[in-house]
Amino acid sequence: MSSNEFRVEHRYLELPDSFYTRVQPSPLKDARMVCFNHKLAEQMGFHAQSESDWTAVGAGAELLEGMDPVAMKYTGHQFGVYNPDLGDGRGLLLWETTGPDGRRWDWHLKGAGMTPYSRFGDGRAVLRSTIREYLCSEAMHGLGIPTTRALFMISARDPVRRESIETAAALVRVAQSHIRFGHFEFAAHHVGPESVKTLLEHVISLHFPHLINLPDGERHTRWFEEVVERTARMIADWQAVGFCHGVMNSDNMSIIGDTFDYGPYAFLDDFDAGYICNHTDQGGRYAYNRQPQVGFENCQYLARALLPIMDEDSVRRGLRHYETAYNARFLQNMRDKLGLANEQDTDLSLIMDTFSMLHEHHVDYTAFFRALSNLQARGHSPVRDLFVDRSVADQWLERYEERLMSETRAHDEREYAMRGVNPKYILRNYLAQQVIQEAQNGDYQPMKALLKVLERPFDEQPENEAYAALPPDWGKHLNISCSS
Ligand code: AMP
Ligand code: MG
Repeated sequence: MSSNEFRVEHRYLELPDSFYTRVQPSPLKDARMVCFNHKLAEQMGFHAQSESDWTAVGAGAELLEGMDPVAMKYTGHQFGVYNPDLGDGRGLLLWETTGPDGRRWDWHLKGAGMTPYSRFGDGRAVLRSTIREYLCSEAMHGLGIPTTRALFMISARDPVRRESIETAAALVRVAQSHIRFGHFEFAAHHVGPESVKTLLEHVISLHFPHLINLPDGERHTRWFEEVVERTARMIADWQAVGFCHGVMNSDNMSIIGDTFDYGPYAFLDDFDAGYICNHTDQGGRYAYNRQPQVGFENCQYLARALLPIMDEDSVRRGLRHYETAYNARFLQNMRDKLGLANEQDTDLSLIMDTFSMLHEHHVDYTAFFRALSNLQARGHSPVRDLFVDRSVADQWLERYEERLMSETRAHDEREYAMRGVNPKYILRNYLAQQVIQEAQNGDYQPMKALLKVLERPFDEQPENEAYAALPPDWGKHLNISCSS
């Protein structure tokens, strides 16, 4: 490692010690660098001349000077049931750094071995799920959706038992913050009002600096409103790209509104409003069309954890911001996707009817909006071809083009803007599955190639046309194991 331009701090350690336990990573054997995010490293203020310098850190075999690993304590609601026994069961917060642009980064080593919060787990992460997290965090970032990031990942020889024996891996995940809604639930339900207040002030001073100078009551109220709004906007952004998180427990909700903890997630292929990507979620609690409501329920859990230090009225008012922020963002996202700049009252019904049509006719969600973004240049066929019953497409296109007549933007200008919000390339499940298989056979190049494509999801990439293909039949309804 060389020429670092970052400052090391470990502000999390300023919190009361009930919030963490110091734990040394348990080293993995014969680790090998799988993928290293050089662009991100540069933004964070360091240059990795040799990737392999970092392998030992990823393997938990070496700590750099200043690293002081801790397992964070939090609790949370899992599938609606409160679990007091959560915490970093296999991840460690190594340190925090601040880059040349003043941005802070938590470094979290996921797969580092057992901690006091491991419960029945082995503290490890497998190659398959680590690649999935790497791919999706970078895909979301490419789409402009707030997310934790992947700095680098390693694989190792150690066998890990899941449904079968798998390969161990570890990810250095970075984010402005790793504090979850569940941290507040822990403080409120197990420690006391003072610790909720300390945690809240910590989060404000690090991540909401614009609120610092407000008077006490107002500072807290405004902060909660902002957390609620960020959460609502993040989920409206998920809905717009067809992203299903899969495990929206309150311990997987980031306090700064990042998409957090990628497990059995999926991007929709054929549009299916009730799509459930997590096959252990039998009731469909976290189905695609339930996500906006679940985001609100998680904000309610957070609200409850704030009651020891905030008056009920302002918490209630804060919660009301959810619906407003969600609706406004969702409507804006969908107007942008359809290229509607001159707002009309009937837009919402056009949007809802569009969703119903896509659902009923099993139309590929991403391909549909991308085809709409090229209507001028390529005509109706790319849209029509997505429908078994072409007459459905024709009827809809007629209505859509009539609506476009009341637009004042030039057609090419509109479609240029639409191509900036309707991705051509998304992380389809089958693409992830393919690169995982190659990686399991020791070839990480396909994963890197896919990552490169997903860096620029809105650009035409003629040489990468194949990545925009609709899923083959085998790739349409993959059962993604929730074990990770
Ligand atoms: P998740 O479902 O990945 O969000 O994790 C829920 C809880 O289980 C968290 O406290 C994790 O740290 C913990 N956990 C998940 N997998 C493991 C594992 N293999 N070993 C220990 N703890 C784990
Ligand atoms: Mg989690």
